[in-house]
Amino acid sequence: QCVQVCPVGALTEHDSTWEVVEALNDPDKIVVVQTAPAVRAALGEEFGLEPGSLVTGQMAAALRRLGFDYVFDTDFAADLTIMEEATELVDRLTRHLNGEDVPLPLLTSCCPAWVNFIESQYPELLDIPSSARSPQQMFGAIAKSYFAEKLGVRRDQMVVVSVMPCLAKKYEATKFEDDNNQDVDYSISTRELANLIKRMNMDLKELPEEDFDDPLGESSGAAVIFGKTGGVIEAALRTAYEWVTGETLENVEFEDIRSTSYGLKVAHIKVGDLTLNIGISSGLGNARALLEEIKAGNPNNLHAIEIMACPGGCVNGGGQPYAHGDMKKIQARQAALYREDCGKPIRKSHENPSIKKLYEEYLVKPNSEKAHHLLHTQYTAKERV
Ligand code: SF4
Repeated sequence: QCVQVCPVGALTEHDSTWEVVEALNDPDKIVVVQTAPAVRAALGEEFGLEPGSLVTGQMAAALRRLGFDYVFDTDFAADLTIMEEATELVDRLTRHLNGEDVPLPLLTSCCPAWVNFIESQYPELLDIPSSARSPQQMFGAIAKSYFAEKLGVRRDQMVVVSVMPCLAKKYEATKFEDDNNQDVDYSISTRELANLIKRMNMDLKELPEEDFDDPLGESSGAAVIFGKTGGVIEAALRTAYEWVTGETLENVEFEDIRSTSYGLKVAHIKVGDLTLNIGISSGLGNARALLEEIKAGNPNNLHAIEIMACPGGCVNGGGQPYAHGDMKKIQARQAALYREDCGKPIRKSHENPSIKKLYEEYLVKPNSEKAHHLLHTQYTAKERV
C-alpha cells in the first residue's frame, strides 16, 4: 500500500494500485474492472494526447493487457441508475400531482462528496435525495450477485475494481450496505491507472481499440454524459419523458439544461402537459445556495436537482490528470463525452438491451424488492464539521 502525502499534510491520497496488482496476480480470484464515463475523456492526456481525446477503446485494450478477467463499463450501471432514479422521479411526481405530500425536489445521488455534504450540513433534508446508490456501487452489487451467479462463482472469489475520476469514490467504496461485504473492493483514479499502464511499459496511443465485455459493458449514450454537469438529469429526462408521455422522444439533446459554465442553472422542460422545473449545480457553494432555497420553501417549485461537487462535473474530478482550473481543458473533456453520446446507436438508458435482460432475468422491475436490496441506500445524519 502506498500513500501519497500532501507536503503540508492537508491531504492524503490513498493509492490502491498495488492491492490491485496483487489481486491480478492471485490465480484464485476473478478480477472485474469497471471504468467511469469521465475517465475515457482524460486518460489520453497522461500519454501526450490533446485534452478531449477519447480513448475508450484503447483503455479497454490496456485493461485487458493488464490482466483483468472482465473489462466492463460503469456506464452500464449509469443506465441502471437511470432506471431506478427515473422510476423514483415519476413516482414522486405522480403522487405530488395527485395531491399527496411527497418530498420534492428529488436530488440526484451519484456524487459521494455531495452526499457526504448533505449528510453533514443539511441532515433535515435527508428525505429528498434519491435513494439510488451511485453507478459505481450499483455496478459492484450487480457484478457480485447477478454476474457471479452467471459465472457460477461465489462473491468472495470475485474482486471488483473501479477506475474513477474521483477520490471520494475510494471512500464510497468502503461503505457497506446491510450484508457487511464490500461490493467494490478497490477504487483507483484515472492518474493511478495511467501510472499502472506506464509501469507495464505500454503506450496507450499504440494500443488497438477494443470493446468492453458483455453483458456489463453495454451502455447507452445517456450513460456516458453522466461524466459532465447536467448529464445525469438529462439522461433521466430522456427516460422519464417517454415513460410519462408514452411518446418517442425524437430529439434527445436537452439544450436548455446543457451549460458549459460552472454555476447554477434552472431550466423548464415540457414533458407532455407538465412543465418540469430542473435545477443543475456543480460546486458545493452552488449546492448550498440550492439547499437554502429548498429550506426556504422551494420558491421556484423545483421538481428535480442534479448536484455534482466538482465544478463542471466528474470530468474535472480530483482523480483526473491535473487541469488546474483550465476551463478549456474541462470543456474539451465535456465535448468528448457528448461526441461519444452522439455516436452511440442507443441513446436512452431504458433501451439498453443488457439492462432489459437484467430486469427480465433477475431484478424483475425497477424499484422491486430485489432492486431495492441491491441498488438503493439510506442516508445518515453526520456530525457537522
Ligand atoms: Fe467525484 Fe467530483 Fe464526480 Fe462528485 S463530481 S463523483 S466528487 S468526480
